[in-house]
Amino acid sequence: MDKNLIVGSNSLVRLENGNSVHYINFDNAATTPPFQSVVKEIVEFSSIYSSVHRGTGYKSIVSSMIYDEGREIVLNFVGGNKDYHTVIFLKNTTECINKLSYRLKDTLQDKIVLSTYMEHHSNLLPWKYRYTTDYIQVDASGRLCLEDLEFKLKLYKGKVGLVAVTGASNVTGYINPIYEIAKLCHKYGAEILVDGAQLIPHSHFDMRPVDSPEHIDYIAFSGHKMYAPFGVGALIAPKKVFEKGFSEQVGGGTVEFVSIKDTIWADPPEKEEAGTPNLMGVVALSTSIKTLQNLNMRKIDEYEKDLTRYALSLIHDIPGLILYDDMNVEEKVSIISFNMEGLKHNELATILAREGGIAVRNGCFCAQPYVQRLLKIPDEDVEKYMTNQSLSRPGLVRISFGLYNDYNEIYLLAYLLKEISQNLD
Ligand code: PLP
Repeated sequence: MDKNLIVGSNSLVRLENGNSVHYINFDNAATTPPFQSVVKEIVEFSSIYSSVHRGTGYKSIVSSMIYDEGREIVLNFVGGNKDYHTVIFLKNTTECINKLSYRLKDTLQDKIVLSTYMEHHSNLLPWKYRYTTDYIQVDASGRLCLEDLEFKLKLYKGKVGLVAVTGASNVTGYINPIYEIAKLCHKYGAEILVDGAQLIPHSHFDMRPVDSPEHIDYIAFSGHKMYAPFGVGALIAPKKVFEKGFSEQVGGGTVEFVSIKDTIWADPPEKEEAGTPNLMGVVALSTSIKTLQNLNMRKIDEYEKDLTRYALSLIHDIPGLILYDDMNVEEKVSIISFNMEGLKHNELATILAREGGIAVRNGCFCAQPYVQRLLKIPDEDVEKYMTNQSLSRPGLVRISFGLYNDYNEIYLLAYLLKEISQNLD
């Protein structure tokens, strides 16, 4: 796809040997660079930018309209239902999941929340410290065990209130069969939250009609992983969840009327967005969604799968390279994790940056239980890392492609990995 869609796609970096090379960004699962269209829109919109839902001036009215239109754009993008769902704009996926965890406290009281061994900490910790939780297992290759999900749904005999599962792993890229999971959840009386942080930027997503057994009850995702910086995230959920009670954060914007004695809360979504909202974030997200839709999510998915297939074909047999991947590209997003025998994950990542100007990420990617499983570290040994901070932490090296990456960049990575491998012989 066209590199010029992206700001900074032609950046150069100077290597230690003095040569300048193109910066290759293979760290898109962390944060993507912005779309040109987003930056252009932000600059143009700056002359209108004003307070949202507060002023009577022309700019304020337009700003409020653009902000609210952002909800429609998001709802349409995820196939939500405007009579049933609400779109709440927050900081990021983490804040969205924390809000949901707090606002479901009455519904999930006395219930069990099932999360999985595959989750980012942002879809693990908000449940772990508020509810009784259990975790769905992954198999030896790291794929989620649906048998274990069904086993646990049966075991807890209708007590599971929510299954919190990622749409795609930020470590292996494995896509979970969310509609099959949704069907199982609904069969046993549970709801499903999909953490969409890694899925939404890469493939077509649809919440499906709310009367379908396969519908997704809740979805959360972040703008900064889909070419829209400025710190915005979206939570799409049934309005009814927010009708009773009030938000974990209250203040300006969340109310209709306040006296010293009492408060009349605003309706959702305003009730859930305390303080002045992030208008620039929403403008960025709306623009990035329009750009993604113009490019066509299915084509983006296909292109990124081709890149992933190409990368795997070039690197899978490099001597000493250990892949954490079952090579089933059809059921994963464009993320690949690996290690190199004889090098620590941080050493390999540093060499790639130093010798090739290639940006990757290394470590556990905020998914430590999953990485521990992939590395087959026994639970007793995991405890050692808890008690001995000086032990060097295990981890992986992760590459993750965006729609602007290309085959040449992948070829260069593979070339460098081969060289590293040969020099270690
Ligand atoms: N969930 C997944 C699968 C992620 O990959 C991430 C970020 O890497 C998050 C949640 C948290 O996203 P944010 O940092 O935008 O809240």
